Amino acid sequence: MTDTAPTEATGDSTRRRPALSPSRAGDFKQCPLLYRFRVVDRLPETPTRAQVRGTVVHSALERLFALPVSERDPAHARELLTPGWEELLTQQPELGTLFDGPDDPELTSWLESASTLLDSYFELEDPRRLEPEACELKVETELDTGVLLRGFIDRVDVAPTGEIRLVDYKTGAAPREVGEAKALFQMKFYALVLWRTRGELPRQLLLMYLADKQSLAYTPDEAELRRFERTLNAIWQAILRAGRSGDFRPNPSKLCNYCDHKPLCPAHGGTPPPYPGWPEPDAGSESVLDRTD
Ligand code: SF4
Repeated sequence: MTDTAPTEATGDSTRRRPALSPSRAGDFKQCPLLYRFRVVDRLPETPTRAQVRGTVVHSALERLFALPVSERDPAHARELLTPGWEELLTQQPELGTLFDGPDDPELTSWLESASTLLDSYFELEDPRRLEPEACELKVETELDTGVLLRGFIDRVDVAPTGEIRLVDYKTGAAPREVGEAKALFQMKFYALVLWRTRGELPRQLLLMYLADKQSLAYTPDEAELRRFERTLNAIWQAILRAGRSGDFRPNPSKLCNYCDHKPLCPAHGGTPPPYPGWPEPDAGSESVLDRTD
């Protein structure tokens, strides 16, 4: 078994065990201090319009597959955007500050840009020819070492012959090559979880880049996923060590320009808050915005 979390109480059976998600593992790889700010300190972050648009587009694509096959067309897909946005606003009213009310012309053009992404999706595949096994599937598994992996897969397709394909929609404006390593890390994470839970290696990992209308298909092999499993175990052990000591080092890079916590970062002249100790109850959760980067 792996170490338990540094300050994890052992007597409370209702407490969720700390888990690793692809977003949080990616945070730690990018910058341990960023991981600390997000997971341990849980400092609030300001979502961007692009992040929220990604969430709304993902929601529309999920709802699209709930429609009868004959209605899975661009016009119906576009009609799903506004209800998705309104539902998100109900769940997270603070997102309302992104726009100056429902009549803000910038809201209109933002929804139009989301429509453009949906139109791009239809150039990449025909959803009338697909019947996914699941959309927004929550997956969780425990590795032999005791590390708990948890995440959400955009779509799982299963062929009549049983082969599994995992699909992830990318809606960000970043050039594909910038996000590709991160996206493959995420997809290997899901492939490993599926393999461990179903005993079946996914046949294909498909990344659909809606902004530039391109897809990237990737076939994982067993040896690679075993190596990847060792990588995840090593990341988790490193997280536990840092959690125990409170030593989460900054790792400055050009990505600091996208970090909400730069003013608190010693690499940029800031001072972090005192270390509050290991988080409870869950060190690995993803927000709905994480799932749509
Ligand atoms: S500003 Fe850069 S180095 Fe500092 S916490 Fe953020 S990502 Fe890490």
